[in-house]
Amino acid sequence: MIYMDHASTSPLRKQARQAMEQTFDLFGNPSSPHSAGMEANAALQDARKRIADALGCFPDELIFTSGGTEADHLALYGVTPDGERDTLIVSAFEHPALLQAANGCPLTDRRLPVQASGIVSPGTVRRNVNERTCLVSVMHANNELGTVQPIREIGAFCRRAGVLFHTDAVQTVGHLPICLREEPIDLLSLSAHKFGGPKGVGALYCRRGVSLSPLFRGGRQERMRRAGTESLLLAAGMAAALEASLQESATQNKAIASLRDELEARLCALGGIPNGSAERLPGFLSIRFPDTDAQALLHALDLYGVCISASAACHASSDEPSHALLAVGLTEREARQTVRITLGAENTPEEVAFLAERIQWIQKTNKT
Ligand code: PLP
Repeated sequence: MIYMDHASTSPLRKQARQAMEQTFDLFGNPSSPHSAGMEANAALQDARKRIADALGCFPDELIFTSGGTEADHLALYGVTPDGERDTLIVSAFEHPALLQAANGCPLTDRRLPVQASGIVSPGTVRRNVNERTCLVSVMHANNELGTVQPIREIGAFCRRAGVLFHTDAVQTVGHLPICLREEPIDLLSLSAHKFGGPKGVGALYCRRGVSLSPLFRGGRQERMRRAGTESLLLAAGMAAALEASLQESATQNKAIASLRDELEARLCALGGIPNGSAERLPGFLSIRFPDTDAQALLHALDLYGVCISASAACHASSDEPSHALLAVGLTEREARQTVRITLGAENTPEEVAFLAERIQWIQKTNKT
């Protein structure tokens, strides 16, 4: 199998597997005041500290969640309106986890337009924030195009305007370095399975001083911001995966980007048209082939053992064209012709050549 769908999920790293194996026997409830509980709690706090160190924040600023979806919901629903400030603004090409949360949230005021390049400009944010805005949410990198957003500029503007800033960094954490104490970010979502950790765990970073009410109530876990017994196993896997992923990306990002560029050049030679001209995450390629149905291409490639995506994994069972591609100005038809190929460190030039050759073959057989 040639796996080129890392934005959907990534293979479990051996460091994460080992860390989880080591915690299998720590069965105590981290909240229990006896020795079994305290042992589990010590391991949980160790995982929290390692994640905080990797992200440049304080351990008590991290709230463990079941993944990116929950972190996004907690950010939007947990923020408490402050006096006159009682509305929130999100970008139009957020992941459905955030967009659907916003759709159901009574505070949501408007969706920010996205440029054809795949960027939400700070100017757009400036023009849309008003005296009633309490929160702006713009993702760090888009999960379909890979385009990296100017979150430092957007966050700095929000801070000056007295508005909270949330970013869904599910696609960037572990892949791009970040030091949260130096960034004008109040809330940030992450998810372990996007950087080689286990599925079903993530976190919301919530800057000290930002008040957040819980989505789930009950126990006093996570400083009363997320009730429910924490999964030590998953937290340990997430911490080990994050450290390994950051280490790897520091040395591999250039090579991954040049492999992506090689793939892009090969596919453009076959008539492919890339989407999103702005700076992208190293492994990302969103490209459309006129006269080709992306779903059909995806299934044909799967028969050759190549896994890519026709759009985000969460859309895969839907007939709707991707809202993110429509937001950057593609027509419905163009969106349906778009595939997303996301490379990881284990992909090779031979695999890239094989993929291009198979696409060429599929195109030829479809014409005859
Ligand atoms: N946000 C973004 C940008 C994503 O890409 C994803 C997953 O694809 C999510 C949120 C949801 O994360 P999870 O699968 O951990 O719930």
